[in-house]
Amino acid sequence: MTEQIEQIRAVMKRVFGFDDFRPGQEETLLKTMTGQPTLAVLPTGAGKTLLYQLPGVMLDGLVVIITPLISLMQDQVDRLRNVGQSRVAALNSSLDYQEQRWVLSHLSDLDFLFTSPETLIKPDVLRALHNQTISLFVIDEAHCISQWGPDFRPEYLLLNQALTTLKPQRLLMLTATATPAVQDDIINRLGLNINQVSRVVESVNRPNIFLAVQHLDNQDAKRRRLLELVTKLGTSGIVYLSSREGANQLAAWLNEQTSLRVAAYHAGVAPIDRYRIQQQFLTGTLDLVVATSAFGMGIDKSDIRYVIHFQMPVSLEAYVQEIGRAGRDSRQALAILLYCRGDEQIPLLLGKIDLPSAEILDQIKVGKTTDTILGDAAHVVSFYLTQGMSGREVVNVFAKLEEKRAGQVQRMLSYVQEDGCRRQNLLAYFGQREFLSDKFTCCDLTNPDWVVADLDLPPVQKKVSLPVLDWRSRLESLFAQPGLG
Ligand SMILES: [Zn+2]
Repeated sequence: MTEQIEQIRAVMKRVFGFDDFRPGQEETLLKTMTGQPTLAVLPTGAGKTLLYQLPGVMLDGLVVIITPLISLMQDQVDRLRNVGQSRVAALNSSLDYQEQRWVLSHLSDLDFLFTSPETLIKPDVLRALHNQTISLFVIDEAHCISQWGPDFRPEYLLLNQALTTLKPQRLLMLTATATPAVQDDIINRLGLNINQVSRVVESVNRPNIFLAVQHLDNQDAKRRRLLELVTKLGTSGIVYLSSREGANQLAAWLNEQTSLRVAAYHAGVAPIDRYRIQQQFLTGTLDLVVATSAFGMGIDKSDIRYVIHFQMPVSLEAYVQEIGRAGRDSRQALAILLYCRGDEQIPLLLGKIDLPSAEILDQIKVGKTTDTILGDAAHVVSFYLTQGMSGREVVNVFAKLEEKRAGQVQRMLSYVQEDGCRRQNLLAYFGQREFLSDKFTCCDLTNPDWVVADLDLPPVQKKVSLPVLDWRSRLESLFAQPGLG
């Protein structure tokens, strides 16, 4: 064991230039390398990429990394190239047919392959990978397997079959937030034995983020409070809400009312503009992003000082992920949720999918009715139907998921209505009870007299400034795009 750790340390120093492990890294690496299927729940910023980069350097064979966002794959490929690892490729739908063929015919020249679940489960991809020695199979953002919502990716459910086909030598599941129940769900859905999977779970507690909820009488009062907060807090922050239209309007309004540089970000913004907004936010030429949950995964900005929720997120998991983007530099940060009575209706409605009857679903299954009547749910429902489910079974699956979702919203509401300590409430949900915290910097309940000025938020460092685009005209052009997410 010690010998292996020494070896790992030596490679870490030589290839990646690190002297020490971050919490959870050493344990995860040791378990993974010795061949134990491992589920690691490590907060964002814990250095998760090293957990597969390092084995990839030490082991013979291919490391396959399943990752949900195509936009992040290139970033991950570049990072590996930056540390001198050139035998790396991404395989996804952004490549044309020829490029995909090329990657598949050069698998034996690679140490690392990044791909999405949708691409992985294609028969020709599975066939090509089947002929390779896969030294490590990594499922990044593994909570996606257990997730439910409009963004649900049903192909995650086929990863268990892919594992059976590919028989990788080692398996690592990575996620930033997962309750014990979600951890079990991930393991079960991958067809693994609960008792044979090792878990490395680091606390979700972020002591440098002050937690607050403010109850307001109506939506108008909420807007006024938001304006007051962002004016005081300045740069850099994120305001989360649930609709695209709402994000556009709020961003335009804040641009008008403040001297801050504000942009809206959601799935309806063109990819090129999304990329630009991310870059401007990273380099400090944007102060504030008003966003739906589409903004965040892969945002590696260490000095975000505050996250304001203008609407309730769909679950405490989502909340923890979203506020976790603040204060990555370990300095003081603020997470505040603005709440009006009845706000919980929004996440409840968001999860609602109006399914046609079981009979109509059966007709769709045999091709007698078109699946266009399913609207947004078409992809997910068609997936279940082609997997052999009957219309009745699909209706039951959706009913169960809706129940689960309502429970998550209810649990989020209990955080909002907590009267003891918010941190305790949040950690209890993740099965963690022990924590050390100064009641003054903990939450609005343990420090009821808190004001923004007392929080000791560090001033933001001025950075190289890039030309700022005309956001107002951009926002106006976005107004035309209704819809959610
Ligand atoms: Zn507290």
